[in-house]
Amino acid sequence: MTRLVTLLAALLLAAPAAARAVPAHDLSVRIDPQERTLEGRDTIRLDSAGPVTLLLSGRFRVNSLSVDGRMVRAPGSPREALQRIVLRSARRIDIRWSGVLVALDRSLDHRGTLSYGAPASAPEGTYLPAGSGWYPAVEGSLERYRLALDLPAGQRGLVAGRLMEESEAGGRYRARFDFPQPSEGIALMAGPYRVEQRRLRTAAGSGVRLRTYFHPEIAEFARGYLDSIAGYLDLYERWIGAYPFSEFSVVSSPTPTGLGMPTLTYLGIEVLRLPFIRSTSLGHEVLHNWWGNGVYPDYAHGNWAEGLTTFMADYAYREREGGEAATATRLAWLRDYASMPPGDDSALVRFTSRTHGASQVVGYNKAAMVFFMLREAIGAAAFDEGVRRFWREQRFRVASWDDLRGAFERASGRDLAAFFGQWLSRPGAPDLRIADARAVPTIGGWRLEVTLAQGAPAYVVSVPLVIRAIQSPRGDITRRVELGGERDTAALDLPHEPLAVALDPDFRMFRRLAAAEAPPILRQAMLTGSPTMFSLSAEPGMQVAAQDLAAKLFERSGARDTVIPVTLVIGLHADIDEWLAGAGMAPRPPALAAGRGSAQVWTVRAGDGRTLVLVSVRDAPSLAALARPLPHYGQQSWLLFEGARAIERGVWPAQPQVWELRPAAR
Ligand SMILES: [Zn+2]
Repeated sequence: MTRLVTLLAALLLAAPAAARAVPAHDLSVRIDPQERTLEGRDTIRLDSAGPVTLLLSGRFRVNSLSVDGRMVRAPGSPREALQRIVLRSARRIDIRWSGVLVALDRSLDHRGTLSYGAPASAPEGTYLPAGSGWYPAVEGSLERYRLALDLPAGQRGLVAGRLMEESEAGGRYRARFDFPQPSEGIALMAGPYRVEQRRLRTAAGSGVRLRTYFHPEIAEFARGYLDSIAGYLDLYERWIGAYPFSEFSVVSSPTPTGLGMPTLTYLGIEVLRLPFIRSTSLGHEVLHNWWGNGVYPDYAHGNWAEGLTTFMADYAYREREGGEAATATRLAWLRDYASMPPGDDSALVRFTSRTHGASQVVGYNKAAMVFFMLREAIGAAAFDEGVRRFWREQRFRVASWDDLRGAFERASGRDLAAFFGQWLSRPGAPDLRIADARAVPTIGGWRLEVTLAQGAPAYVVSVPLVIRAIQSPRGDITRRVELGGERDTAALDLPHEPLAVALDPDFRMFRRLAAAEAPPILRQAMLTGSPTMFSLSAEPGMQVAAQDLAAKLFERSGARDTVIPVTLVIGLHADIDEWLAGAGMAPRPPALAAGRGSAQVWTVRAGDGRTLVLVSVRDAPSLAALARPLPHYGQQSWLLFEGARAIERGVWPAQPQVWELRPAAR
């Protein structure tokens, strides 16, 4: 399941107008999803007269326009997607417009287009994205608004904000909303919703109205979702500070959407049915009301909000499951990073939104790892204090990485310029290794001398070393060693004889994994710049299915820089066994004994550094069944399929970097 995305408005990329106060809209919108018509009326008030440009979709006709009480000729019918209505000076604008919305395409995925898709409508769902020009947005500015919505009876709809009143009478549903904070734009959703509601008194004492707007076919899930939202609001109020809004709603979409906005999240019906969404993505979206929609990232200087949200939501939930789950998450992040083509890497400050898989590796995962390392460096108490301070100081403001650093510096009393500098402005990661290690007896114990090395230019890092020792009553000993150069030797005094020393075996640092630490996973095939495929069967059905699978798996590779060459080998079970034997390769792994399942997929690192992906199937239909599911399992090293269903899967174990001391010491 792809992680959900926060709404990102183009308006903010052109820095918000600092000189003038935030313009206020007073909107009335009437929508008929059957006819796909929209009629709108808006009064826009600015605190002082000055030039204003309004952006309205070219789908709409401006029926009337008046500026400061004087009627103005509306611009002619524009051919552009977005018509620009340029006014030399305005303090109050009254505008009416109308037009026909695009027919809703159920297969449309808003994850790719975010706020820029066309305004679309149908009886099963209406979605008017913030940046689509469905209302006259003020260019280059945050906006406050009040909105009155008018829909046919049976339909329900909403925008982000406080629900002031609603009614159903005379064959119409009407609702009024108020959003007094500066917002990044207005998105509107409607559909044949069943609404469930609960009032919550939060830890901070404020009242919050929780709602689900669900299509009838998923109405049974409403209660569970309301329970979960209440839990998340409680968690984050205690951790960060009071929830900044009066509502939170989960809204279902007929399209496979995943969007977060202030006061609500808009998720596909099929997404909402998935059992794990309540325990993962939902919390992530709730937290975006603090990070992203409560404090706005300064996009031009890097989006910190996804990393902080990933750390305090997705990662925090894994940490609550226990240390092993948390370690596995950090390893998965580092493994994804290790399989990313270097050309896709970029400095964290250059991450502004999520565009594809590679930027998630940096913008979400590397950023979350930076927050993890920061907490390790300054301690959990100072970290939490920094988070609370940042929230107090920046609520409803545009804040940068520098503002975050400032909050953590004041909370910890430490200068964090070097820490943030190296992790934010440098692409890449340190490649750390143990260059040498020796143990010598001392009076009353042992001295371990460890030489650590890294490439140039060196990072300044605190490297955890885990030492296995004879007679150590409390098991392994963990020590941190500071490394600031390309090569440094540290001396550690130990009470017992050390036997072996491992470099960061729990993956507590953002670094480039050594080959043995990063076992091959399918994701390498999806990101490789040099994909090749062998089909071992001449049968036409197998050939066609093999081509189809290769196309799906290598879909996004193509013109990438070569990092790890990947060869896909596809055949019937017997042909694969014969090919492995002929190539002098290890036989099929025990977990995938011949005959189990209808298809088996596994990765192998070949001697020449190439990754092989072996696909062994019972017959052509078994192969054809893999094309759709397999690209979703990039994190796995091996899978066992029955038809299109993955019945078993796993990752080959990572081999930590260990230096054995015993033979050298004797
Ligand atoms: Zn997010």
